[in-house]
Amino acid sequence: MALGSKIYQVGDITVRRLHELETNAYTAKDLLPDWDPSFLEQHKDWLVQGSMEDDLEHVIITIGTWIVRTPKHTILIDTSTGNNKNLPYNPGLSNLQLPYIQWLEDAGVTPEDVDYVLLTHLHYDHVGWNTKQVDGKWVPTFPNAKYVFPQSEDKYYASSDSHNEANKVSFNSYEESVLPIIQAGLAEYIGPEGGEYLEGIKFIPSPGHSIGQMSISLTSRGEEAFFASDVMHHPIQVYRPEWNSCFCEFDEQARESRLWALAYAADRNTLYFGTHFPGSSAGYVSRDGDGFKWRYE
Ligand SMILES: [Zn+2]
Repeated sequence: MALGSKIYQVGDITVRRLHELETNAYTAKDLLPDWDPSFLEQHKDWLVQGSMEDDLEHVIITIGTWIVRTPKHTILIDTSTGNNKNLPYNPGLSNLQLPYIQWLEDAGVTPEDVDYVLLTHLHYDHVGWNTKQVDGKWVPTFPNAKYVFPQSEDKYYASSDSHNEANKVSFNSYEESVLPIIQAGLAEYIGPEGGEYLEGIKFIPSPGHSIGQMSISLTSRGEEAFFASDVMHHPIQVYRPEWNSCFCEFDEQARESRLWALAYAADRNTLYFGTHFPGSSAGYVSRDGDGFKWRYE
């Protein structure tokens, strides 16, 4: 994977995708335990154009970062999995060795250029490149950045309350990827209500997938970009918002937040940026009868 070729313009802001990796390791049933194959009857055609393998069983998903440039700032939204990480219950994504920094530099961004790292939540695949390993120690990858994230996420993942089955895949990522940022004095917290962080940048609570996940809205010159993180993992969920992913920690809240995000994106006609969607990972949600539909952009 690598840098997305498309650059989205939202008012004065540009947004570009950095795909850390793409995988077809999950069947639709693995990813969405409520999966019903009759979904394919209506949706097969668009799914096999890059959203699902031809076997009609394995879905395609990605992990990535959004690179945002405003007239004043260089911002990263979520930092993927990272290199050299030790995730004891997640061996397939441990010890990656990917040229992520090179990809960033290909987009014209050096680690020193990054002013803000905005984190929607603290699962391992959203915080990994917060840090890099130097001489056996974890240090901030973006030394001049403020790292901004929901305080309730920090409280939970720092405590033994999060040491449970649902959160096993992220074990050890707080210690490797979040704590060193706090110890370096680079962390800033968003309170439980969310709200505007910088002019035009708003955190909006959308919990359920994780305890304090927040979506991020960027507005510029009347246009809006909406980063709803893991309220959905795949566009199949646009059509079946009641289907949680296997990674959702708090099921009922996750469904509520998904419906909220779909209505928000559709009614405001915002560009929707996912973290794990295949292809461009970006597109538009619109209303369709009682439900919603998806179009890649
Ligand atoms: Zn995720």
